[in-house]
Amino acid sequence: MKVFKFGGASVNSIERIKNIPKIIQEFAHEPLVVIISAMGKTTNALEKVVDAFYENKQQQALVLFEEIKQKHIQLAQEIIQEHSASCLADLNDLFTEVEWLLHDKPVRSYDYYYDQIVSIGELLSTKIISSFLQELEIENTWLDVRDFIRTDNNFRSAIIDWKITREKIQSLQFSAKTIYITQGFIGATDENESTTLGREGSDFSAAIFANILNAKSLTIWKDVEGVMNADPKEFLNAELIEELNFEEVIEMAFYGAQIIHPKTIKPLQNKKIPLYVKCFLNTSLKGTIIKDGKMNNLPPIIIIKKNQVLMNLKTKDFSFVGDKPMKFLYNLFGSLKLKPNLIQTGAINVQLCMDENEIKNQELALKAEEIFNVEVQKGLTLTTIRHYNETIIDTLLTNKLFLLKQQTQETIQILNF
Ligand code: ASP
Ligand code: MG
Repeated sequence: MKVFKFGGASVNSIERIKNIPKIIQEFAHEPLVVIISAMGKTTNALEKVVDAFYENKQQQALVLFEEIKQKHIQLAQEIIQEHSASCLADLNDLFTEVEWLLHDKPVRSYDYYYDQIVSIGELLSTKIISSFLQELEIENTWLDVRDFIRTDNNFRSAIIDWKITREKIQSLQFSAKTIYITQGFIGATDENESTTLGREGSDFSAAIFANILNAKSLTIWKDVEGVMNADPKEFLNAELIEELNFEEVIEMAFYGAQIIHPKTIKPLQNKKIPLYVKCFLNTSLKGTIIKDGKMNNLPPIIIIKKNQVLMNLKTKDFSFVGDKPMKFLYNLFGSLKLKPNLIQTGAINVQLCMDENEIKNQELALKAEEIFNVEVQKGLTLTTIRHYNETIIDTLLTNKLFLLKQQTQETIQILNF
C-alpha cells in the first residue's frame, strides 16, 4: 500500500490535472490511496464566502459562491465528456448543500460555518478528478473522507479521534484493483458535521492514512524540486536536500519552513514510514526522502518567518518571573491557544516572539497586564539557521541589528526589523 498526496497547486489547471493519471500509472505499482486538496486557491475563495455570510451579506456570499461553482463546472466540462452528466450531478449535490446553508442566517459560531462551507473545496476537486480518471478508464473509487476521519467538534482545527478513525479505515477492504481517491484537510464529527484540520492540513490527512494502513511510503507531490535548504524565492543559491530525517523536518516545520504541515511527521515517524517529496512538474527529479535515522552533514538550513511581534513583559511588582509569573503566562498561552516562536527570560522580564495575530495577541497583552507592564513591537522578522557555520553567520547575520538572539549548538535565531 502506498499513499500519494496532491496539493492545490498540482490540480490548479487542466494541464496539471492531466499529469495525475500519468504519475499514478508511472509510480504506483501497488494498492494506492490518493489524497487531494482543493484546486488552486479555492480554499481562500471559500473563506471569502464564509466571511460574507457571517457578516450577513447573503447576496454577496451567493455571488462569490457562484464564481467558485462556475469555475468547477467549466473545468469539469472541459476534461470530462462521457461521464459528464454523472459528474455534474454529483457537483450539483455538493453546491446545493452549501447554497441551502447560505440561504439561512448565521446562528452558530463562525468556525462551524467555516468548516461546513470550506470543506466543499476538496469534495469538488476529488469528484472531478475521480470522474476524469474514470473517463481514462482508470478504475478508481471515490471515498468521502468524512466517513473515515472522525474528529471532535473543535471546528477549524479539529482533533482526530484516532481510535474511531482507525476502526473506520481498517474496516475498508482495500483492493489492488482500484485506486482510492479521497480528500485531505477535512473530517467529520460523530454528528456528521464537517470539520477541517487547519490550513494546509491535507499533508496531515495523508499521513493519517499512511499510518493506519501501514503504508510502504507516502509521497507528497509538489511544484518544487523537493525540500530546499532555504526558500529559493529569497535565496538564489538555495539547494535541494536529498535526504532528511523526521527530527530535522519537524524542527524545520516548527521554525516556520513551509514545506510540510507540521502535524504530518508524527504519524509517519511512529510507524517509520518514509516520506518522499517529489516534483509533479518533472517526475524524473530525485526529490527528497525523509526517513527515520541519524543524519550527519546537513547543510545550513535557513528559515525566515516574517510578520513577527515582540512582546516585552516586565513584572509590575519586581517579582522574579521564574516564580508565579511564568506559570501564569503559560496558562494564558494554553487558554488562548497561542504558541510563541521564541521565549527569553531574565530576572523580572520575559520576551516573547509571536506570529502576528491581532486579536489573540491583544487578548494576551490585555490579560498579561494584570501582573506585567507590556510593550509590543510589530513588523519584525525571525531568521533561524540550523546547522550554522561561520560563513553563513557572516553573510546573513553579522552587522545586523537585532532585538533578540538565541543560540544553541545546532540553531541560531535572530529577531530584527
Ligand atoms: N485546501 C486546504 C488549504 O488550502 C488544505 C490543503 O491544501 O492542504 O489550506
Ligand atoms: Mg495546499
